[in-house]
Amino acid sequence: MRWDPTGRVAVVTGASSGIGEATARRLAALGMTVVAVARREDRLAALAGADPRIVPHVADVTDTAAVDALAARVAEEFGACHALINNAGVGGGAFRGRGDVDDALRTIDVNLAGAIRCQGAFASLLEASAPARVVNIASVAGKLGVGPAGYAASKFGLVGFSEATGLAWAARGVTVCELNPGFVETEGFPQTQMKRTPLGRAIGHPEDVARAVHEVLVSGRTERTVPTWYRAVVVFRHVAAPLYRAVIGRMQRARGTRD
Ligand code: NDP
Repeated sequence: MRWDPTGRVAVVTGASSGIGEATARRLAALGMTVVAVARREDRLAALAGADPRIVPHVADVTDTAAVDALAARVAEEFGACHALINNAGVGGGAFRGRGDVDDALRTIDVNLAGAIRCQGAFASLLEASAPARVVNIASVAGKLGVGPAGYAASKFGLVGFSEATGLAWAARGVTVCELNPGFVETEGFPQTQMKRTPLGRAIGHPEDVARAVHEVLVSGRTERTVPTWYRAVVVFRHVAAPLYRAVIGRMQRARGTRD
């Protein structure tokens, strides 16, 4: 049965910029009440000022008590949560050694543990609001081990968490989607290096991902890659892993990013 967003309640984390902001705007335009979550209060206030259906809520997804308080507020004020979009995330830096351990752990705490905290806090409300949706914004980096290693680890973890909870929660009327964007230009991911390469033309916009979120909410799909052609690379990596690694190694040597 078609899932109609109109009049339903969504929670979008990381809504103060980039993909989360575009998603909050799109879902509100569809007639959803959108609880927009992030740490930067001024940005959330500006977003809410543009659409009365957007409700700002300041919270840090690494703070379990703050996430529990968010879920309690949504239950009390709106009585339902039909869609949880776990989007809050940070990029993190290269992992070269001991000096990078804290950065990698911090990245995992926001990107993976943050989504786990939110999904846990909202579980019973989602079930009570069924049919309900969770959309976890992972990444193509959660399928291909490239880029900052802490980031890839956080997204591989989020892909696994989404798949396992998706299978387990279907019986509760809650679908869980791993939505995997490729390169998108945003504040946290300016794609500076990528813009200098021929792949620069493949860099997408936050609205592309927001449109995909809308699609999976309606369809109930449990996996989506944006843009869809990136999926060919993911399939290549899984069916021919040694060949994939050889190709990536050659590209890195050509770019001087590997010995
Ligand atoms: P932005 O930097 O524009 O947005 C990140 C958002 O996450 C901000 O709203 C930020 O808000 C929020 N955030 C960061 N840390 C926390 C925290 N501890 N608690 C609550 N909110 C937090 O980046 P994008 O829009 O590009 O990223 C959104 C998601 O998309 C991320 O999960 C990212 O990994 C994923 N993604 C992005 C890709 C890209 O190329 N851009 C590709 C694939 C996936 P604030 O600072 O106000 O808290």
